[in-house]
Amino acid sequence: MKTAAFRKTKIVCTLGPAVDSLSQIRQLVRAGMNVARINCSHGEPEARARWVEWVRQVASEESVYVAVMFDLQGPKFRLGKIYRGSISVEVGDIISIGEGKGKLPIDQPEILAALTPGRRVIIGDGDVSFRVVSTDDGHRLKCLTGGEIRTRQGITVAGVSFDSAPILPKDVEDLEQGASLGIDYVALSYVRRAQDVAEAKRLAHKLDPSLRVVAKIEMREAVKNIDQIIAASDGIMVARGDMGLQMAIEDVPLVQKRIIGLCRGAGKPVITATQMMESMVVNPRPTRAEATDVANAIFDGTDAIMLSGETAYGKHPILAVQYMDRIAKKTEVSAAYLRSIVDPKGDRVSEATEAVARAAVEIAGSLNVKAVVCFSSSGFSARMVAKYRPKAVIICATPILKTARQAALYWGVKPLQTPPFGATEDMIDRGFKAAVEARDLAVGDMVVVTAGLPVGRPGTTNFVTLLKVD
Ligand code: PEP
Repeated sequence: MKTAAFRKTKIVCTLGPAVDSLSQIRQLVRAGMNVARINCSHGEPEARARWVEWVRQVASEESVYVAVMFDLQGPKFRLGKIYRGSISVEVGDIISIGEGKGKLPIDQPEILAALTPGRRVIIGDGDVSFRVVSTDDGHRLKCLTGGEIRTRQGITVAGVSFDSAPILPKDVEDLEQGASLGIDYVALSYVRRAQDVAEAKRLAHKLDPSLRVVAKIEMREAVKNIDQIIAASDGIMVARGDMGLQMAIEDVPLVQKRIIGLCRGAGKPVITATQMMESMVVNPRPTRAEATDVANAIFDGTDAIMLSGETAYGKHPILAVQYMDRIAKKTEVSAAYLRSIVDPKGDRVSEATEAVARAAVEIAGSLNVKAVVCFSSSGFSARMVAKYRPKAVIICATPILKTARQAALYWGVKPLQTPPFGATEDMIDRGFKAAVEARDLAVGDMVVVTAGLPVGRPGTTNFVTLLKVD
């Protein structure tokens, strides 16, 4: 039987009420979810625990590896609970904001202090906005663009930057819950500098040294410090939602391209996030522009594409993943894409693992090899092979389940949990057989294998060999 086409670009799906059942999670996995994102800005801890359990159960039953990412709220200001869950406002409406009945609920005094007359206030991703008209008798806002406002939507005061701590007590609690549930990634919101990431890593690693930290880039300051932030992080999210509020909208595409390029150069996974298929929150088909946005992020070189409201509270969560999957597969086999992923050869590398990875990709390219198998404890060698974007599928063979799940985010990587690494010959033999099965290889096909010798010492990838199916 022929195996289904392997998609190299990974899909991150945000969980929420739209997929709050075991069967919906199963459908997401079958449709192609590689990473389940749980947005800690919303939902109760009980729901998060339930979702993690379901993702684990389904992944095991479907024999796939799905990473779980907790996205920490960070120092984001949000509205409180709105009576009946939402209200609608129209252009020209005057509304009060603060604590108390009949007002837009907000309980952070910093926000109120920043609401001086004339300031623009943006709700959510910018669909609804206001101008501050008076502060004499409480804060009053005049609606500039109308629409629906929902409980706990983000609130931004245009042009005001708050120097808040990067990780608040709520984030620490959420991180503790995530670590106790065995999550694979944690995403940090409103990162400004590399020290924020270092602080998140320090806290995360106290709970679980194998947790990986993704920095969300949405602030101008983060863009300024991007090189250091990439170096400090295990991955990056181009968080276009808040980015579009923090900087001019016309800057977003350029910043996206720049960050993806830098991540590719550094060999760090990068997720392109937000509004990729926004219209599918309501409609059963993406717009032409959305389909093109997904394809363009892939052309930019992103490792992963993300769905937010589409899967969390949209009407067509499974269809949204299916469309993304189809668009990604079509884009990846195009001649234009294959040309675009070829990395410049010849730059110097400072790491043995990267040199071996590059050699493996070079061999795979010259001989039209179908699979590169990387034996790895941490997944680093698979990530380095991915950096050089081979046409061959990259199999990250690891005895460590968490490494396999984390590798689910990396471009082009198919994770595979193996028994503990044993004698070299055995290990290579097993990995080779797994690759043959996973890629449906035929007699005469070749497989490149990378490993560290002697076996079992992490961080020692120093070996590459070529095997032929006979
Ligand atoms: C974003 O702003 O694009 C984002 C992904 O963050 P959040 O969903 O937390 O607003």
